[in-house]
Amino acid sequence: MSRKQPDHNLPHLRIGDSEIFWLDGGRIRLDGGPMFGPVPKVLWEKKVEVGDDNCIAIDNSAMLLITPSAKIVIDSGIGDKMTAKQQEHFRVQQPWRLPEGLNRIGLSPDDIDLVIPTHADFDHAGGLTRHDHTGRPVPTFPRAQYVFQKKEWAVVKNPDRRSASSYWPENFAGIKEGLNLKIIDGDFQITPEVNIFLTGGHTIGHQGIEINSQGESAVHLGDLLPSQNHLHPLWVIAYDDYPMEVIAVKEQRLPDYARKQSWLLFYHDTEICAGRAQTARDGRNITLGATIKKES
Ligand SMILES: [Zn+2]
Repeated sequence: MSRKQPDHNLPHLRIGDSEIFWLDGGRIRLDGGPMFGPVPKVLWEKKVEVGDDNCIAIDNSAMLLITPSAKIVIDSGIGDKMTAKQQEHFRVQQPWRLPEGLNRIGLSPDDIDLVIPTHADFDHAGGLTRHDHTGRPVPTFPRAQYVFQKKEWAVVKNPDRRSASSYWPENFAGIKEGLNLKIIDGDFQITPEVNIFLTGGHTIGHQGIEINSQGESAVHLGDLLPSQNHLHPLWVIAYDDYPMEVIAVKEQRLPDYARKQSWLLFYHDTEICAGRAQTARDGRNITLGATIKKES
C-alpha cells in the first residue's frame, strides 16, 4: 500500500486486517432536547455539557476504513458548502476538515473507492459534494461509488416535507445511477470484510455497517447509536422518523455485539470514537469496556 505511515495523533482502530481512522467532519451545536427525544433533561444533562442556550456540541466524525481491497469513507460530515446563515443557524464551531484528515494518512479524495452514507441528512451527507472552481457542487470523491439503500435514495429524489428540511439537493449533485451511484436493497456484502445492512428507524432507508476480520468486529449504527449516551434502547432522538424501529434494532443487535465484544463506532460523540460493547453487571443493559478517545 503506497501511503505514508498514519499520523499517530489521528484516532484509529485496527480490526483484523482492516483499519479505521476518524476524520474531522465538523462540529455543530444543537438543542440538547431533541438529541434525547423522550428522555427528561434532568437525566440527560448529567451526561453532557449543556450551554445557556440549551445546546450541546455534536461532532460529525466521518470514518475512513481501509480494507485489503478498498478505501471506504463512511458518512461525510457537514461539508464546506454551508452559507453564512446556515453556519450561524447550526452554530458551526469547527469546520469540515475531511480532506486534511485524509492527507494526514497520505491519501486524497481521489484515492477513495467507496462512500457509504448511513443516510442522507445534511450532517452525514454534507461532505459528499463540494463546490468546484465555478461554484457548482460536484462529488467530493471523483472515483468513488456512492452506496445508498433503495428506500433512502427514493426519499432523496422525492423528499416529503419533513425530510426536505434536511435532505439538501446540493449534497447529491452529480451522484447518478449508471455513473457513481450504487443502489442496494437490504443486506449487502460490499467487500469480504464489510457488510451493509438496512436498519430503517432513524430514516426509512438508514443503513448500518459491520466490519468483520480475523475474529474481530466493529459496527457503525449511524444515528441509531449517535453517541455513548444512547446505548439504552429507550434513549432515542426526536429526529427519528420511526422510533419504535430504532428501539427494536437496538434491543435485537446490541446484546449480540456485547457477546462478541464488538467495537461500537460513534459518529456524533464528542469524547470518544469507539467503545467495546459489553454486558452490564445487571446482565441486561449494554455498557462500554475499552474506549478510543478523541484527538485532544
Ligand atoms: Zn446525525
